[in-house]
Amino acid sequence: MKEDCIFCKIANGGIPSATIYEDRYFRVILDISPANMGHALILPKEHFDNVYDMDPEIGSKVFVLAGKVAQCLKEELQCDGINILQNNEEAAGQTVFHFHMHIIPRYEGDAVQMGWQPGKTDQESLAALAERIGEKLQEVE
Ligand code: AMP
Ligand code: ZN
Repeated sequence: MKEDCIFCKIANGGIPSATIYEDRYFRVILDISPANMGHALILPKEHFDNVYDMDPEIGSKVFVLAGKVAQCLKEELQCDGINILQNNEEAAGQTVFHFHMHIIPRYEGDAVQMGWQPGKTDQESLAALAERIGEKLQEVE
């Protein structure tokens, strides 16, 4: 646990939350300012600032759990779709610096905004960048 981290406190039961699931690794809660009702957050009980320092073993479990939560939200809320997203660093919209994954029920025509303007590029630029990043990725354990 990290001192003064609200999600450490929530994940480990120190602060009450609308919990929908808990196991030894995670607590899943309902977001206090939901994009739509049912907006859920997966919080690991262990503190990681973001995806960069996430433990790979716990990281590999997050998406399995996200799939289960999404399935339940879909069945229970009869939503039309679901977004799963995870923000890293302020520039990407992270406001709570304890890794968490958002699972957001979506409805046709709802007011939730999430997206980008499609950019422009060309095959040459893509290939050059793919090679650069691909080489880097080979070095990552
Ligand atoms: P992010 O912007 O990705 O860091 O997301 C942080 C999310 O945590 C936001 O959607 C907030 O509404 C939510 N949040 C912040 N504090 C609490 C809290 N005490 N209980 C539940 N959700 C919270
Ligand atoms: Zn924390």
